[in-house]
Formats: sequence, C-alpha cells, structure tokens
Amino acid sequence: MKYGALYRLGADRLTAAGIEEAALDARLLLESVCHTDRNTLLVHGDTEVEQAQEQRYLDGIKARACHVPLQYITGVQEFMGLSFAVNEHVLIPRQDTEILVEEAMRELHDGMRILDMCTGSGCILLSLLRYSNDCAGTGVDISAAALAVAAENAAALGLEADFREGDLFAGLERGSRFDMLVSNPPYIRTDVIPGLMEEVRLHEPLSALDGTADGLEFYRRISREAKPYLNGGAGVFLEIGFDQGADVRRILEDAGYDRVEIVKDYAGHDRVVRCIWQEKENV
Ligand code: GLN
Repeated sequence: MKYGALYRLGADRLTAAGIEEAALDARLLLESVCHTDRNTLLVHGDTEVEQAQEQRYLDGIKARACHVPLQYITGVQEFMGLSFAVNEHVLIPRQDTEILVEEAMRELHDGMRILDMCTGSGCILLSLLRYSNDCAGTGVDISAAALAVAAENAAALGLEADFREGDLFAGLERGSRFDMLVSNPPYIRTDVIPGLMEEVRLHEPLSALDGTADGLEFYRRISREAKPYLNGGAGVFLEIGFDQGADVRRILEDAGYDRVEIVKDYAGHDRVVRCIWQEKENV
C-alpha cells in the first residue's frame, strides 16, 4: 500500500478503537516504521511502502488499538531532549518528571555523586549525567529487566552509570555516600489504580506505579533509609502526586530533613518535593 492510504487506514482503525489521538498516533507509527518524517509522508503520500514495513505498521496499529502505549510499540520516548529506549518493564518517561530533573540541575555541581532510587529507564539519572560534568551516577531498581533498559540507554548516550538491582537501599554497599538523591518512586494509591487509563493500568509496570494503600510508603522508606547514604548538605528531590505535597513534606520534616519545599508543575499541581539533608549524629 501507499503511505497516504496506510496512514488513513491506521487512523480509521484507531478512531474505531476509541484511541484519543488516533490520527497523530497513526502518523507517528508510520514515521517510526518507515524511518521518515512528517514532510516526507505528506509530500510523497503516493509512495509505495515496502511489504515488511507495511506489516510492521499494521501490527503496530493492532497493538495500539488494544491500548498498548505508542512508546512501547515504537520503543522510544523523548525526555529532556534525549531519546530513551523503553519497553513494558519501565515506566514511560513523563514530561512531569522533567520538572524534577530541572530542579535537581539547579543544585548539581561538577563532580557530585548522584543516587537515583527506582531508576527505571534511567531517564532521570542519565539526563543529569548528560547535562553535567564529571558526576558519578548510581541507579537502583528492584527490577533486573528495568535495569537492562537503563544500561542500554546509558550505552546509547555514551554515559557511564552504576546500575544496581535491589529493594531501595539494600542495593547499595554500606558506606557509599551521595551528594544528591533523586527519585520518582511508585506513588499511586492502590485503590486509584483500577481507575487509571487502560494504557497505564494494563501495560505499564504496576510495580513502578503502586505506592501501597496510602501511596506514601516509598517516601516513608526513602526518607528513613537514605540517611546513612547522604553526605551532609545533600539535596533530595522526589517526584510526588498532585495531592501529596503536604503529606510528603510532613514525612520529610519528621524524618529530620531541612528546608523542605514543594515545587509545582506547569499545571499548577504539586509535583516535586525538595529538601536538604544536614549531617546529624546518631542516624
Ligand atoms: N505520574 C505517573 C502516572 O500518573 C505515576 C508515576 C509514579 O507512580 N511514580 O501515571
């Protein structure tokens, strides 16, 4: 079939399946499969598409019609101007999370040691490493399959990072210390999950989303368990849900962190909590 006809067929099938951005997704999928861009497709709508590409496109449309996120079909998502490989073992990097990276970047200095807890695709850690000099990065995740994606992303960006498998700080050697902690932990309340979009609920890794009954367990654990691993003055940057600012502030303040601030996203919702760990005795 020709470009133009395939595009229309895909857009129609996705519309029929109730996919919100049907035409956009059909176009992006066609561009991805044919390794081309929008203009080429527009100008050469009557170009024949190779058989193998056509098949891949139609398979992709079929998957998207079943609400598989487009990014898992194309295998990539842009984040902080960089291209990250993704698959069903990692959360798709969100624009919201760029706020976390931007906040962290304001405090990041050359040579710092950065720890990314629940690293997933590695998008937070690798962005920080990419936009700084001589920083050392460690990324921890409980999922070996996620860490394989993170390692692939590091290699593709020409960056070196130390990825470790483990349940939060159990993945680290005792005695290792960091100047900055960043994390986008699972923070969705368990009872909210059944109401999420099918794309998220059925296809993204539940272990990256489920923050337990009140959505706050990872903030409690991270704030408690991080202390021995932080140098005095270390900055801590955590992504939070839009309604979790007050709770996470209290958790961090009760755990002894200083200068707790909540940062809003562009929609005006609480999105990031930042604070400082000052060295104290007896932690
Ligand atoms: N922001 C993500 C969502 O709304 C959740 C990410 C997380 O739990 N860390 O799907």
